[in-house]
Amino acid sequence: MEINSLNFSDNNESFYESITEDEQNQYDIDYLTIYINITPKYLTQQFHPPRFQKNLLVLDIDQTLYYEKRSTSENWYQRPFLHEFLKGVNEFYDIVIWSATKSNHVIRKMKRMNLYGTLRYNIMFYLDVYIMEKHEVVNKNIKCDFLHKPLQLIWKVFPEFNSKNSILVDDCIENFYAAKQNGIEISKFKGDENDKELRYLETYLIDLAKTSKDFTQVNHHKWRQNFIHNPTIGKI
Ligand SMILES: [Mg+2]
Repeated sequence: MEINSLNFSDNNESFYESITEDEQNQYDIDYLTIYINITPKYLTQQFHPPRFQKNLLVLDIDQTLYYEKRSTSENWYQRPFLHEFLKGVNEFYDIVIWSATKSNHVIRKMKRMNLYGTLRYNIMFYLDVYIMEKHEVVNKNIKCDFLHKPLQLIWKVFPEFNSKNSILVDDCIENFYAAKQNGIEISKFKGDENDKELRYLETYLIDLAKTSKDFTQVNHHKWRQNFIHNPTIGKI
């Protein structure tokens, strides 16, 4: 079953409410010990070490920063203001790229966007689909599963990061499953050259870093509402 058939996006409130505290805690004790064993493989791809007293920003690629219709396509689109966004948040956040695709596709897309091995931003490393966690659900008596991105894995390896100083930006809220208070849902990017989402997000994330000591105490669900009615934000 396609994950889209779950219609999570149409019912965000119930999705968030359906995750119990116990379900989140289990991620600290169950599978992380397994993942830690394979983590050194990923750390060899580390570009930059974490810096002192920075926050953690984990960014999805497809339809968050980048869009292509097919992997074979030469037509691809980088989300407008991508490098302005990274330059702005880099002062406050160490960055991890985490894509639900294979490693070779992650590298290809990062290279296209001039992100692979760049010294301009503190991109620590990237993670691919193989380090995502599968979760099984039953929806209308149909059993299906989805993959998500457990931030706990990164927190385990880099203890300077935790739920209080981490953000995961993704266009699929299923990826927030193990750390729902740390997720920021971004609209799906499909090549619109007038898109201003990263402009808004840059402002939000910098303000968050300056004003909050615990990101889980902020309701990120409606992060965009301050910008929609403010015509000055997003202007070049
Ligand atoms: Mg995506």
